[in-house]
Amino acid sequence: MAKIKLFRSDLEKHISNQLFEISTDSLNLDNIQVVDDTLSCTLSVEHAPNGYRVHGSLGVTFIEKCDRCLTRIDEILESSLNLILTDNEALLNDENMDVIHFSDSEEFIDLSPIIHDLILIEEPVKRLCNETCKGLCPNCGANQNESQCNCGPREVESIWGHLKDLKHKNLE
Ligand SMILES: [Zn+2]
Ligand SMILES: [Zn+2]
Repeated sequence: MAKIKLFRSDLEKHISNQLFEISTDSLNLDNIQVVDDTLSCTLSVEHAPNGYRVHGSLGVTFIEKCDRCLTRIDEILESSLNLILTDNEALLNDENMDVIHFSDSEEFIDLSPIIHDLILIEEPVKRLCNETCKGLCPNCGANQNESQCNCGPREVESIWGHLKDLKHKNLE
């Protein structure tokens, strides 16, 4: 499937928990990598004034690298989606809701841009394989979670200790 389109016939049927598999190729996610290049979306449709309410969940697994040791980590995201499709002016001006203009003449709504934005918002900023990840040796590049090199671990520990102190200070 290229894009995620909801056709008027789907909307009229008031689909319930219908599963959509979406290829991320069509979403232009730049350097964001996703397992199987696919995400899944479960959508339901209900009636709303002059239109429809579309709600459901979005599931995606990001392929990330640990910021310290560069090991691959998979981050599972479950996000929710709640939109009103309408041409009702009062709803369109309500800033507390996600409202998309949808008039009687339109045959489908393309959800790709909405899903694209959701993914960009939800992509994890901080990525650690483990809170206690020891990272790579700055000297020889060895993954210090797996083995200890001969570069003098004490020095490295003191660097991390120093960073921790800084973080704590920032939090206070
Ligand atoms: Zn790590
Ligand atoms: Zn080393």
